Amino acid sequence: MPPIVNHLKTSMERTGKEYKDVHEWIDGDPAKKAERHDITKISEYGKMIEEKYGKEAHQEYIQHLHDDIKAKFNHIQHDLEKTISDTLAYFGVK
Ligand SMILES: [Zn+2]
Repeated sequence: MPPIVNHLKTSMERTGKEYKDVHEWIDGDPAKKAERHDITKISEYGKMIEEKYGKEAHQEYIQHLHDDIKAKFNHIQHDLEKTISDTLAYFGVK
């Protein structure tokens, strides 16, 4: 998943603000990181973030999860394509 610095940059591009507190809340604590990326908690956490930082921060929280999912699946797709290609080559399949 993208490091915090990438999230700050994309928030800045989208909104003109980094939303550092939001991104650090999501990614900063290794013990809570998985829980804070749990999409079944998006309503609860989104509301909490909106109350503390505003409506735009709420959207940046959702966008953070979106960007992480996209990056993760791009990585999985890359690994899968390489595994398939290596396996086909191993058996001489072209
Ligand atoms: Zn993240």
